Amino acid sequence: MNKGKKLYEGKAKIIYEGPENGTGIQHFKDDATAFNNQKKATVEGKGVLNNRISEHILNNLNQIGIETHLIKRLNMREQLITLCEIFPVEFIVRNIATGSLTKRLGIADGTILKRPLVEFSYKNDDLGDPVVSKEHILEFGWIDSAETLDWIIDKCLRINDFMQGMFRGVGIKLVDFKLEFGRANVKRKILLADEISPDTCRLWDVSSEKKLDKDRFRKDLGNIIQAYQEVARRLGIIHEETNISEVKFGKPKVVNIKKK
Ligand code: UDP
Repeated sequence: MNKGKKLYEGKAKIIYEGPENGTGIQHFKDDATAFNNQKKATVEGKGVLNNRISEHILNNLNQIGIETHLIKRLNMREQLITLCEIFPVEFIVRNIATGSLTKRLGIADGTILKRPLVEFSYKNDDLGDPVVSKEHILEFGWIDSAETLDWIIDKCLRINDFMQGMFRGVGIKLVDFKLEFGRANVKRKILLADEISPDTCRLWDVSSEKKLDKDRFRKDLGNIIQAYQEVARRLGIIHEETNISEVKFGKPKVVNIKKK
């Protein structure tokens, strides 16, 4: 499928114009970044795995009535999507306290939350994606109305319920994750956008609590690709017999590391 002009290049993905008005092509790169871009590396094969894992999850969500931007996967690294104007808000859903929540509020790492917690952060790299309240979102017009915001929060919780069950069924705890939503350029519907993958979720093995997500990169734990592959295998996306060399998964190659 012919790609149109590049519309946007982010840390892990590139969006091109798609073949028809209102469509785009989302390309998954192998680049990994953390700590607001201060740590960077190329992790060979990551884009291919995230493309497959995100396709699997978004297709499953679609089947339970969550409308997403994904139209179909095109190849190893690309998906055909509905182009959206992304709301400048990240929706973080947490089931277990870890990461920035523990640092910000001094909550013990691993604390099981009585109910899922939805947090909002303002998407702004210069400000380090600060946590904001519902009132900030409405006051500054990042999302048009309280009804829309509540509707999205409801979807976040529904997605969490579904994903928690899906991962639990394959021996993985869904600790937390990030979602992005946007309004379709042409039809103006609100759609779940971006990706859901081990780059955007924290996933711990149920019995060993081994991290199967981007924390392996953030915390220099090694075996990043192996962990992402493990997630894909458990979800039944790739099989034991998959010849890894065929899909060119190599060793992670660090190109530049600048720690805080
Ligand atoms: N997350 C993400 N993109 C971001 C920030 C967070 O995908 O820009 C995900 C992250 O992978 C984790 C969850 O959201 O699954 C919560 O992240 P947290 O706020 O703890 O931030 P971090 O510790 O990564 O700074």
